[in-house]
Amino acid sequence: HHILEIDRLRHVYPDGTEALRDVSIRIVHGESVAVIGANGAGKSTLLAHLNGHLLPTSGAVRVGHLPVGRDTLAEIRRTVGMVFHDPDDQLFMPTVYEDVAFGPMNLGLSGEDLERCVKDALRQVDALHLAGKPPYHLSAGEKRRVAIATVLSMAPDILVMDEPGNGLDPYARRQLINLLKDFKHSKIVTSHDLDLVLDLCERTVVLSGGEVRADGPTREIFQDE
Ligand code: ADP
Ligand code: ADP
Repeated sequence: HHILEIDRLRHVYPDGTEALRDVSIRIVHGESVAVIGANGAGKSTLLAHLNGHLLPTSGAVRVGHLPVGRDTLAEIRRTVGMVFHDPDDQLFMPTVYEDVAFGPMNLGLSGEDLERCVKDALRQVDALHLAGKPPYHLSAGEKRRVAIATVLSMAPDILVMDEPGNGLDPYARRQLINLLKDFKHSKIVTSHDLDLVLDLCERTVVLSGGEVRADGPTREIFQDE
């Protein structure tokens, strides 16, 4: 069954720009999908619809069977783990531990359950040793991994990542790709990094002018581009 259904999604900004025209994408459980396209193609607008940051002008987005809408936002934001373009937008507490604990605490977790949850999330991104550090002392690769942990601690069904390899040196980038490969989550990734897309996403959707121009196995898409 589909974990995410984007059905005839259209988005018109207040100034009249039609950023998404008629986008339909269905993703099954465990699938990893890259969304690629030139600047202005509509990638950011599409991602903003996945956690209800933007709502459709027409069409619909469903996560599981829950429609993304004003009255489902809390549930949607727990299910859809959004890793922002810039880790600094996700890290704002005095320590890494507190940043990762922030989401689950708001869900009501405390004590040993909270500690286990935080440590599990940090372990998954090989960052448990960073727990006591202030986020602003971390390297770009460490920041990226911790930003992902803040989302993993919410036990999301889908991980949405906007240019996860951005700003990383080749070693940190490879380390990140290898970690992400082991995640069992469904993933949606925007990236200009062909290596990352080839390694991580079996399927690629090409957006252009707010429309899906191609959707298929990543290797076939890259042969045609
Ligand atoms: P991408 O992420 O692929 O670069 P965007 O989703 O940012 O594409 O942009 C898609 C289109 O929507 C572009 O034409 C862009 O200029 C326009 N756009 C983006 N944000 C806004 C906004 N807040 N108001 C008006 N137009 C916007
Ligand atoms: P382990 O015993 O698995 O090595 P620790 O208990 O030493 O793990 O915790 C690892 C890191 O997490 C330490 O840097 C510690 O400061 C931090 N940490 C653990 N629990 C908390 C907590 N409740 N609040 C803040 N930081 C914590």
